[in-house]
Amino acid sequence: MYFVKERAHGKINVGLDVLRKREDGYHEVKMVMQTVGIYDGIDITRSPGEREITIETNLKYLPTGEGNLAYRAANMLMEEFGINEKVHIKMKKMIPVAAGMAGGSADCAAVFRGVNKLFNLGLSLQDLKERGVKLGADVPYCIEEGTALCEGIGEKLTTLPPMPDCRIILVKPHINISTKYVYENLRANELTYHPDIDGMVCAIKNNDLYGVTDRMGNVLETVTETEYGIITELKDKLKKMGAVNAIMSGSGSTVFGIYDDNDKAMEAYKYMKESGLGRQVYITEPYNKQ
Ligand code: ATP
Repeated sequence: MYFVKERAHGKINVGLDVLRKREDGYHEVKMVMQTVGIYDGIDITRSPGEREITIETNLKYLPTGEGNLAYRAANMLMEEFGINEKVHIKMKKMIPVAAGMAGGSADCAAVFRGVNKLFNLGLSLQDLKERGVKLGADVPYCIEEGTALCEGIGEKLTTLPPMPDCRIILVKPHINISTKYVYENLRANELTYHPDIDGMVCAIKNNDLYGVTDRMGNVLETVTETEYGIITELKDKLKKMGAVNAIMSGSGSTVFGIYDDNDKAMEAYKYMKESGLGRQVYITEPYNKQ
């Protein structure tokens, strides 16, 4: 096999809580993650020659060397298995960048899966996740995909059944927010509100959409909503346009709304697209394999 095609799906945080800031500076989180239908296309080709990893992407501003998590994933496996060949990664980015949708981690995960297949390395999903965590706390989740409760610094996964069927509208506004900035400015030990993540997990197990949407919450909004009015504006607009609930995903800046009705969702999608409030606007749904 000389060519492999992977899909790197983005995620949303249906619920995101921060329990505390640890002494080592990391934050202990408790989040419900859901993969969505939006994905980056990742084509990986191998060819004979001296070891080299090249990345080609439709977003010219993205790093193509060590700075790209996809490069680091390929490099890690090629070094470990002594692979001396050329690997070319063609990346078609659809997932908004610096948007709380784990785009970089998803690409990284797709390259782990793809290189494993391309060179018949025989690594299990678990083997890949153990390597992936060294490149980012979200990478093990992105390797597994689907619906999961993520704890620890995000790397401790409990697989959940798929979240109840719904439509999702994603709006990435014209601002980028760095994850580092949000966590540095979060007053983790002074939070007065914590979303009911345990209740949300129960609601998912009971396939109860409103049980999930009633409990949607993201404590990182305490940082971003103070700083960027557009986050609140987008949440309000999505709800006004019929969303059962709307919150920010991860550390932002993407805001998403959950819809229980396809027609309402389509109408809201068209409205949001025409409003000019988003740089990227998507309509999608939860994605779970098989
Ligand atoms: P998360 O939800 O995990 O916090 P994010 O959506 O906030 O992620 P990303 O889109 O993953 O952020 O990327 C943030 C930064 O990482 C970008 O500014 C970019 O320079 C760098 N980066 C490295 N590799 C990639 C990649 N494959 N795709 C996108 N960004 C990448």
